[in-house]
Amino acid sequence: MTTIRRAISIRQPYVEQILRGQKTWEYRRQNTKIRECVYLYASRTPGPKTEWRKLRMEPADLPTGRIIGAVEITATRRLRDGFAYKLENPRRLKRQLKPINQPQPWFWKPRFTLWKKSHDGEKIYECEVKKLFMRDGVKRWEWLRMSVADAIREGATEFRCKDCHGAVRLHGKHVAHAPAPHVEHKSRQDSEYCPSGMYFRQHPGREPGLSSAPVE
Ligand SMILES: [Zn+2]
Repeated sequence: MTTIRRAISIRQPYVEQILRGQKTWEYRRQNTKIRECVYLYASRTPGPKTEWRKLRMEPADLPTGRIIGAVEITATRRLRDGFAYKLENPRRLKRQLKPINQPQPWFWKPRFTLWKKSHDGEKIYECEVKKLFMRDGVKRWEWLRMSVADAIREGATEFRCKDCHGAVRLHGKHVAHAPAPHVEHKSRQDSEYCPSGMYFRQHPGREPGLSSAPVE
């Protein structure tokens, strides 16, 4: 299996139509020389109402803001006012991916982790902590990314992996001369599919994904 490097942003329900094999051409103003398998990122802005009606669905029915599949671009064709990209072999990801960088409207390179290189096993130095925020006069719980050292300092009680949202164990609590504070996945399966998991890093080319039991 080759590693997928790029993503293309497409609105829903077009992504769903591609994954069902009902849409085999993507129309764009620019041409591309890309002939490879790319991730399908479902843009947050919904596509036209007529397309939703065809599927008897509404925007809330389909995921957005995530990478949910992959497809191969095998050819392009010039049209009167743009280009059509031939799409083949669509597939849904078993676990949806949430990139950490800003998606772009056309092709872009998603990044999934801020993982810092370490040779001695699983060391993730950042995590997400649940915090109470005031937004528009309403109190809301939101996940905030912070260093594990800060999370420990604050005595955080609800935290999770920043990449796969799986349950993690905090390390480095009040221990002198110990390695820098870090987290470790509680579940082996999370570590196998989380982009910052130790077991994931041992399998280059594997597709990363969200935890099957995310901490919400
Ligand atoms: Zn993880």
